[in-house]
Amino acid sequence: MTKIYFDHNGTTAIRPEVISEVSARMAEVGNASSTHGFGREARRHVEMARRKIATLLDVDPQQVLFNSGATEGNNTVLRGFEGQTILASAIEHPSVLESGVDIIPIPVTRDGVVDLDKFSVLLDQHSPALVSVMYVNNETGVIQPVTEIARLAKAAGAKVHCDAVQAFGRIKFTRASLGVDFLTLSAHKIGGPQGVGALVFAPGIHPHRLLQGGGQERRQRAGTENVAGIAGFGIAAELAIAGIPQFEKLSLLRDKIETHVTASSPRVHIHGQSTSRVANTTMLTIDKVAVDTMMMAFDLEGVAVSAGSACSSGSTRLSYVLCAMGVFPPDLNVAPVRLSLGHSTTEKEVEDFLIVWDKLRDRIFKD
Ligand code: PLP
Repeated sequence: MTKIYFDHNGTTAIRPEVISEVSARMAEVGNASSTHGFGREARRHVEMARRKIATLLDVDPQQVLFNSGATEGNNTVLRGFEGQTILASAIEHPSVLESGVDIIPIPVTRDGVVDLDKFSVLLDQHSPALVSVMYVNNETGVIQPVTEIARLAKAAGAKVHCDAVQAFGRIKFTRASLGVDFLTLSAHKIGGPQGVGALVFAPGIHPHRLLQGGGQERRQRAGTENVAGIAGFGIAAELAIAGIPQFEKLSLLRDKIETHVTASSPRVHIHGQSTSRVANTTMLTIDKVAVDTMMMAFDLEGVAVSAGSACSSGSTRLSYVLCAMGVFPPDLNVAPVRLSLGHSTTEKEVEDFLIVWDKLRDRIFKD
């Protein structure tokens, strides 16, 4: 059976150089907090990775805090503002929207971009302590005007957090170019291992201590460092940033898919297509098809795609991001399908996908 992996926004293939690095570090013993030689060697690898990430984002290494990934990074930032007024876009990842603090949602346009006019009104009405807006949405690939959002938020006296998970290694930026106070990153979206990430923060910021009971990470995050994972993250970050020109070329394959699927049926619609998106992501819907039918059909054909995260309010499994964009009411019979390509995607994979697509179209949604 054909195996096609088009879920790179979910997690992407680990790069071979990262596997070598992680394996080498795992073969060594040593806790990075220990003062003996083994510990110091482990520490050296952690600090090397920290310098790599810091250089790529043009920050001081002390402004990089390693953690277990972006869920922890987002929780750390949001929980640090518990009890204060927080504005976050309605299309943030659940690790922001459901981090356990009250959030005032910032609406997005039909294209899935934060509505700057409505945002300005909310800033005036609420004078928030924190504004949290992602750089690239994981479901649509739509790029958010983070620099402008940060400028407006700062002028209103707020701190700014940006979940940059889906932007890192895809768009060139630094912390300062965005003008944000907090950035969250995750290694497994860029060819690194799962379960490791970083919170990057501005000078003078003291991140909330989410995990207590240990002096690691300059007393900012308790828990033994994942030395092998962190070392792999450092390598993956360098490779991903160097690979941005290559990543951008994925838009040729993405456009080929979009042209084909829209021509294949009037029931297919692409979302966010008329605004800026990263090169690898297509979010489409198919009218009058149940989402589960579509997901199961792809799976049986050996194709890995995603339907997006469900609307928490709706009884059906429809993407809450598309709900926020006003694409459909939560009870509509529409199948959302997210296709996300990655560094390991080949032209052959795309051609095979289009053959599967036509087969499913003939079987499931041919009018
Ligand atoms: N934020 C965004 C935009 C994501 O896409 C993801 C992963 O799906 C996360 C946060 C959570 O990242 P992690 O898997 O590192 O916890």
